[in-house]
Amino acid sequence: MSRYEDFHARSIEDPDGFWAEQAQLIDWQTPPKQILDASNPPFANWFVGGTTNLCHNAVDRHLATRGDQAALIFVSTETGVEKTFSFNELHAEVQRTAASLMALGVGKGDRVLIYMPMIPEAAFAMLACARIGAVHCVVFGGFASGSLATRIEDAEPKVVISADAGSRGSKVVPYKPLLDEAIRLSKYKPAAVLLTDRGLAPMELVAGRDHLDSDMAASHRDAVVPCAWLASTDISYTIYTSGTTGKPKGVQRDTGGYAVALAASMKHIFDGRAGETYFSTSDIGWVVGHSYIVYGPLIAGMATILYEGLPTQGIDQQPDGGIWWRLVEKYKVTVMFSAPTAVRVLKKQDPALLKRYDLSSLRALFLAGEPLDEPTARWISDGLGVPIIDNYWQTESGWPIITIANGVEAKPSKFGSPGVPMYGYKVKILHESTGEELTAPNEKGVVVIESPTPPGFMQTIWKDDARFVQTYWKSVPGKLVYSTFDWGIRDADGYFFILGRTDDVINVAGHRLGTREIEESISGHANVAEVAVVGVADALKGQVAMAFVVPKAGDAVTDADVALKLEGEIMKRVADQLGALARPSRVRFVTGLPKTRSGKLLRRAIQAVCEGRDPGDLTTIDDPATLQKIKQLIVA
Ligand code: ATP
Ligand code: MG
Repeated sequence: MSRYEDFHARSIEDPDGFWAEQAQLIDWQTPPKQILDASNPPFANWFVGGTTNLCHNAVDRHLATRGDQAALIFVSTETGVEKTFSFNELHAEVQRTAASLMALGVGKGDRVLIYMPMIPEAAFAMLACARIGAVHCVVFGGFASGSLATRIEDAEPKVVISADAGSRGSKVVPYKPLLDEAIRLSKYKPAAVLLTDRGLAPMELVAGRDHLDSDMAASHRDAVVPCAWLASTDISYTIYTSGTTGKPKGVQRDTGGYAVALAASMKHIFDGRAGETYFSTSDIGWVVGHSYIVYGPLIAGMATILYEGLPTQGIDQQPDGGIWWRLVEKYKVTVMFSAPTAVRVLKKQDPALLKRYDLSSLRALFLAGEPLDEPTARWISDGLGVPIIDNYWQTESGWPIITIANGVEAKPSKFGSPGVPMYGYKVKILHESTGEELTAPNEKGVVVIESPTPPGFMQTIWKDDARFVQTYWKSVPGKLVYSTFDWGIRDADGYFFILGRTDDVINVAGHRLGTREIEESISGHANVAEVAVVGVADALKGQVAMAFVVPKAGDAVTDADVALKLEGEIMKRVADQLGALARPSRVRFVTGLPKTRSGKLLRRAIQAVCEGRDPGDLTTIDDPATLQKIKQLIVA
């Protein structure tokens, strides 16, 4: 067995011993009495009897050794602000915010909803909640009133923390009017709103409810707020899933298990070391932002970059497709984390941009959130010359489920595969209808996780244990296993390949095809930047595949002949690689695809539009015009 296989085997065979060791990576006020209580499956209680605090582990415990070292590096290419906070400064800011929250009546277990742009105050707010034992619920700042209102109703926050405005592509996006409207729509009304005024948009304050954080902090300038010692199993936060497949679920996480899971992942998976800089291009509104912008790097004693802006605009607000690499050079970033969708945006830029910067500090780039197609992986890997590590996980898991644990053993990556199951995870592939385990290589089934789930994994759905069990643990007949709702295979070497979501399957003349496989084939065409394939109802075949393709920049397909030729090439390519059945019935060219605000393709909405149905809630779509254009194409 390789070193990693041993490591994984031990985590499964002796979870108590394994996780007791990992638990030493964090500070405990009271050490745990029991490592795992799995007496009530599928619920798993980690580090029972232990007390700790996420903010203490992220901030306070570093003060003695690295108080003056950079902790939070804020870069906004939207407003041209660049500012570094040391651990000492972060400590002071977090205490000020904590004192303000306490003055507004927030205590242990109270919810605080954070609806913020990517500014330091958002991180202060999260850490302040953790410090006093309040449960934060961060809602992505790009959401409109409707989505925000349903989350306010579900979370019932005592206080909402927000700001006057965000900014996107140098355009100011006022938040306050959206928040006011959301509170009006919500049956539940928060008692208070705490606002940061960035001076970007005018704000009208509601008397008795709204407070400016600058006013409040003035009376708490030198506040000393000790960390509340929480039970390991106390709730740290709730977060909603992206909503790619429908109604978002309020994922609830504990305190001690999460802290240990993050500390362990920083060591074994990301190989991020204290004193270095971590750069995740995600948003605090997503799970990656929670785990690997705020908590993970800080727990590891690293500086973390909080970046507000597009990947294509510089600090002077001029176009700059090299801005990320400029930051890697300037702050000597060692570990970077992004998403395939972002790399595809960069792929449309000049590749020479990558070569212009000294990227020698960088050891690896991690990508997650979506399937990483081979052309995109190769492009960025050739450009950077460092390992590109795909990692597969979910909001529910809080940290990678399948990847390569570089910190344990630098196993080679395989294109198209995120890697192997991480320590603590018992990942299996089951037959979708019989529930039988598929053990032979390359057999396609549903990817599931056996109980007990590791530390950091969701505890339950907020306020709804029954929905948690019903939704995730009862989908395979006769077995209590957690379904990821993703298809996958495992090859002869034990590497997993994720083949798309279980509801992204189309049925052509009785044959079941994964849209992901067709997309993979199409994206291999040299002139294709992005593609979405959906199944559309067909009187004759049941369903047919339809492809929506974004051609590469400079290959604008405005000319009908060029379009026809490219369509023909794409159809032939799919037929050659996957068979005639998989060949799309039509290939349409578009300039953009509808995605969730976290950059995931909304195949479901495209499919609805293609079939003349209502695409449903559009408030979570990044650019609704993309869907509108598809609609016009279909009608035409
Ligand atoms: P919802 O559950 O509300 O429909 P969502 O599943 O998009 O939303 P997330 O938790 O943000 O919400 O996304 C997790 C999903 O993203 C995974 O289940 C998988 O489908 C996909 N995914 C994440 N990382 C990868 C990866 N490396 N390769 C392939 N797919 C991935
Ligand atoms: Mg999901």
